[in-house]
Amino acid sequence: MGKNVLYIEDNPDNMVLVQRALESRGYILLKAENGEKGISMAESEDVDLILLDINLPDIDGYEVARRIRASAKPALAYTPLIAITANALKGDAEKALTAGCDLYMSKPINIRELWARVESFLPAPIKS
Ligand code: MN
Repeated sequence: MGKNVLYIEDNPDNMVLVQRALESRGYILLKAENGEKGISMAESEDVDLILLDINLPDIDGYEVARRIRASAKPALAYTPLIAITANALKGDAEKALTAGCDLYMSKPINIRELWARVESFLPAPIKS
């Protein structure tokens, strides 16, 4: 059963929050602090779901999503991809979906919402 979650996020506080939340349910968190590293890890590692920040220091999350979907690694066409961003502007959700994301979540991150969203794609290895 898949349980490897890749989180592409430059904010260390969010990274720690999500790591604690997901590890407490038995998921394994893979971490990338910028877009290029995230794409590279998605291609080289066994990744079952991707959480994606939109405001990244190099390329933005929309570009990351497009490149992941266009990857030569076939599984990345279907790997669940959830955008998480502070951008509250109208249209951002639609932009994320157009770029290839399956879902869009707003910051601040709500842990219960995160668990529910992740579990809708990957059953939690540890039940609460
Ligand atoms: Mn960011």
